[in-house]
Amino acid sequence: MSNEPIEPVELHSTVSSFPVRSRLLVVDDEPLILEGLTRLLATREYEVVTANGGCEALIAIGKQQFDAILLDLGMPDLNGNEVLRFVADRSADTPVIVVSGDSTIDAAIRALRGGAADFVRKPYEPEELLRRIDNTLTRRRLEKENNHILQRLQQSEKWHRFLVNSSPDFIYTLDCEGRFTFVNDRVESLLGYRREDLLGQHYSLVIHEDDIARAEHVFNERRAGDRSARNIEINLKCNPGVRRPRLMNGRCKSVELTATGMYDEEASQFDRRFIGSYGVAKDVTERKQAEETVHYQAYHDLLTGLPNRALFRDHLGLMLAQAKRNQKPLAVLSLDLDHFKVINDSLGHAIGDELLLAVGARLRQCLREGDTLARLGGDEFAVLLPTLVSRSDVEHIGRKIIQVLSKPVYVKSHEIYISVSIGACVAPEDGDLIDSLIRQAEIAMYQAKSQGRSRLQFWEAGMQAPYSERMQIEADLRRALARNEFVLFYQPQVDTATGEVRGFEALLRWWHPQRGMLAPADFIPVAEEAGVIVPIGDWVMRQAGAQMAEWRKDGLPPVRISVNISARQLESPDFVDSIMRAVQVYSLDGNLLELEITESLLMRDFEANAIKLGRLSASGIRLAIDDFGTGYSSFKYLSRFPIHTLKIDQSFVQELDREENMSIVNAMIAMGRGMNLNVVAEGVETEAQRVRLQQMQCHEVQGYFYSPPVSSHEATAMLRQHVRGFDRAKQLAAS
Ligand code: C2E
Ligand code: CA
Ligand code: CA
Repeated sequence: MSNEPIEPVELHSTVSSFPVRSRLLVVDDEPLILEGLTRLLATREYEVVTANGGCEALIAIGKQQFDAILLDLGMPDLNGNEVLRFVADRSADTPVIVVSGDSTIDAAIRALRGGAADFVRKPYEPEELLRRIDNTLTRRRLEKENNHILQRLQQSEKWHRFLVNSSPDFIYTLDCEGRFTFVNDRVESLLGYRREDLLGQHYSLVIHEDDIARAEHVFNERRAGDRSARNIEINLKCNPGVRRPRLMNGRCKSVELTATGMYDEEASQFDRRFIGSYGVAKDVTERKQAEETVHYQAYHDLLTGLPNRALFRDHLGLMLAQAKRNQKPLAVLSLDLDHFKVINDSLGHAIGDELLLAVGARLRQCLREGDTLARLGGDEFAVLLPTLVSRSDVEHIGRKIIQVLSKPVYVKSHEIYISVSIGACVAPEDGDLIDSLIRQAEIAMYQAKSQGRSRLQFWEAGMQAPYSERMQIEADLRRALARNEFVLFYQPQVDTATGEVRGFEALLRWWHPQRGMLAPADFIPVAEEAGVIVPIGDWVMRQAGAQMAEWRKDGLPPVRISVNISARQLESPDFVDSIMRAVQVYSLDGNLLELEITESLLMRDFEANAIKLGRLSASGIRLAIDDFGTGYSSFKYLSRFPIHTLKIDQSFVQELDREENMSIVNAMIAMGRGMNLNVVAEGVETEAQRVRLQQMQCHEVQGYFYSPPVSSHEATAMLRQHVRGFDRAKQLAAS
């Protein structure tokens, strides 16, 4: 191998630069002979230079190149043999024809040994001498041309070797027995073999086991021309003895191979002998890996790595065919975690994701090797049990799953209790179509949920899809805005020191035409999922704005309204503008509008939220942290938001009688006060709670103890009657 730099060669240059007229040097000490020779040579197209003796000859040779020299041997100053030696040293390729009077064979041998090209005896036959000169010149020209061609060949071979060795592809030749006769340098970085190690080895050494049979026809290609292997994918095996993870990355390389058989060109067209193969292999490992990743992503759930719905359908299709052949039933299970959304919303997506991972791992434990576990989406899993003896097998596995999932899951210091509802159907008994089997299992699962969760339910003919109820709600929700079915209720927030109403929290209610008044828990999750929460939230904003404008018009004292903001709303790119629009339309005082956002929602997209809320805060709008204490509670982060109010979650307030809760609430209030925030305690139901909170110097309280959420009409009356000092006695009397 040669990696030495190669000078570019002119591959097309020819030897035509050979002089047209040959230049001859004639050397003799006899002036007459010199003259005679010159005259003779003048009959031909030669350029003739004469030298009278050996010394003159040396001078002439030193000055210029000759195509041939006619040399006398016996010369007094410097004899011909010495001139010959000089020529051999200085310009070995100039042919010398000795023309000598010394006719002994000895003299001739000596001269020829000394490098003379020919020997002519004096006196010479003129024709004979001219012929000898011609021959010598022709021979010399042919030699020169040969040399030139040889040089070019060597140069071009060097050049090709360079191209082949610096090729990014693996290039090889095999002999007719399939042994390597040539491999380029690339093989080292590709497969970890040194070239020497492979030469003489059979090609199968580098072929992946699975591809040996195929390689016999393509790697060891015998066909030539159009029918030979082109861009065939094949897997090569790396040198198992080499551990160079960076280069090898993996034991196996995918290549795209183009190969052709080589045949003896000399032989006649009909019995051309196969002499081996020549091939070029392009490394496509990375491309293959990328393709595999894409394929993997198309068929797997990226969070858990479990098969997704597409792959599950695939497996189910295969297993259905197999079940038919074996005449054994199979089962499809649909699993749905109970209350997962609550966990996800309250603890955040990161914890929700961890939980799903843990659930996936636990489910796997309950299954056998050949069973398929898939995640179909959200908190919905599916299981395929391919060979069953009876339905009781399904019951057994169902029980196992329910039991395994009933143990708490620990995620980042949270102890989380979950349960699962399972629906099942059996093929071919319940049907043998992929999608209807999955759907039947899902219907049975919804049935299990509605019958009290944490149970297994088999599908039965005539079972109604209960989630049509959910879909009904969704459809009704979409109409509710247009039909004006929403109302806002208001719950007062009361100053603990003075008893005055400081503000109201706006709480949404839905007057459903059939179901009556629905609380947010019945429809907000559906509205969130269906995306209708954004226009609904918009309506809430405008409604709250209209209410404030009305109170102002009625001359009532300025009072704050707090509006709850949902995830989808906050994430909506229009969020800030939609709020600013309401502020403008009703000429609101930004200070009187407070947005309630939960901690975990704020943290979900920290940077974006900080920007949005910063813009709102710049126009005076207030921000309250809702359900404080149930989320991150990292003050370091919270302090990056323009917060005005902390709303202590009702779960803490309602257990204020327990000592440890007291200190927590105490700490929260102290922190809030320390940060100059307005602290509101939610869900205050008893006098004892109110007293405690007052002692802890909580600024405001909100809860049934003072008032449940009330209609706009009642809230207005409340404001009128209790402009100063919120009198609980009157409130009680009124209810
Ligand atoms: P939240 O923001 O924590 O609202 C307080 C909830 O506690 C309200 O439930 C309220 O009626 C209830 N509550 C008030 N005082 C007491 C008490 O003394 N004891 C107890 N046990 N509960 C009390 P509601 O109205 O059913 O609302 C539930 C949740 O729905 C709200 O929780 C809020 O997150 C959401 N929500 C309500 N209205 C809207 C809205 O307009 N938009 C959005 N996005 N969410 C809303
Ligand atoms: Ca709230
Ligand atoms: Ca709350």
